[in-house]
Amino acid sequence: CGVGCLVDVKTRNNKVIELRGVKDASANKGMLCAKGATLGEILELDGRILTPRIRNKRELAFQETTWENAIAEVAGRLRDILDKYGADAVAMYGSGQLDTEGWYLANKLFKAHFGSNHLDSNSRLCMASAVVAYNTTLGSDGPPTCYDDISHSDCIFIAGSNMADAHPVTFQLIRKFRAKNPDHTLIVVDPRYTNTAKSADIYVPVKPGGDIALFHAIAKIIIAREAADTEFVERYTNNFDDYVAMLADYRLEYLAEEAGVELALIEQVADAFIKSENLLSFYCMGLGQSSVGTAKNQALIDLHLLLGQICREGAGPFSLTG
Ligand code: SF4
Repeated sequence: CGVGCLVDVKTRNNKVIELRGVKDASANKGMLCAKGATLGEILELDGRILTPRIRNKRELAFQETTWENAIAEVAGRLRDILDKYGADAVAMYGSGQLDTEGWYLANKLFKAHFGSNHLDSNSRLCMASAVVAYNTTLGSDGPPTCYDDISHSDCIFIAGSNMADAHPVTFQLIRKFRAKNPDHTLIVVDPRYTNTAKSADIYVPVKPGGDIALFHAIAKIIIAREAADTEFVERYTNNFDDYVAMLADYRLEYLAEEAGVELALIEQVADAFIKSENLLSFYCMGLGQSSVGTAKNQALIDLHLLLGQICREGAGPFSLTG
């Protein structure tokens, strides 16, 4: 998955006989989740479909066929649909498992050849909001952070992610680091009291959809306490006055109500942010999969810019991917 664990694989007679996480890999430090640990099994050929299969009706059993036949069948059926109903009648749904070259060719085929604009992928639900937010706030579409930042942080803020279950290897890195650093602060924002939330020092049960209000409320408190990193803001950001003016449109009490969080708890989070030397944020689909997913991501990245908590070890926004 997007965590990118490295694995050592030993084979004998074309069979996987041992599979382990690479000890010094920064993503997994020797660990693997259940999916990674059983990777060897999916490399086995037993039980895999090795030839194309076709059925002419859904209720019929599949029949094995050759690649030539299968490709001709797909091309013929697409041709029929295009001739009968036009380009808007065909669509393609892909995923991040297609490489750049594969996607390029798929786009050529559907857009240039068929004249259809209906191409989409699971990336829409996964990284699209994060990428647009990075581009519009930082000017570059990748996280400015890496796994080693965990061990340089003194405060980790997790929003919209149940890392303990969904990214267990990364969460183990956090757990292990925190076990050795009892002063480390973990803040978890989630409407559900997840396994991740259970590990938090500060748990924030935000109302579903209340994330932006929460992030803006934190920003207002930071600005009101004159705790923004003004030097960083002046040197490296644009349109700060517009940001402050936008925040001024909302009363703190209103934002707290919209977030569904007690103001005192938001103040506690803002205090932890202000106190932190190195603040690292992890966030995932809870922010991204929303009609305002990009704005949620942006509002969180803006907090890092406001505090100058970026561009050094242990600090910055870190979107998790699927
Ligand atoms: S977290 Fe699990 S699925 Fe993701 S890369 Fe690591 S072992 Fe593979």
